[in-house]
Amino acid sequence: MTRPVMRLLDPFTGLMECKVCGTRHAALRRAGKYVRGSWQCINGCQLTPPARRENPDVRPYK
Ligand SMILES: [Zn+2]
Repeated sequence: MTRPVMRLLDPFTGLMECKVCGTRHAALRRAGKYVRGSWQCINGCQLTPPARRENPDVRPYK
């Protein structure tokens, strides 16, 4: 399951804001639930896990 990139601003209108790029859109609701795609940014932004800082010298395998 992917984590939702959108943050709900207004539960009444379904207005959401992207946590990454700040784009806002009104989410679609069906039967009182938000349509799955509503939690995705229209620009395709995705939340990436925070960078690991314990060992900054780690390099990927060649
Ligand atoms: Zn975005």
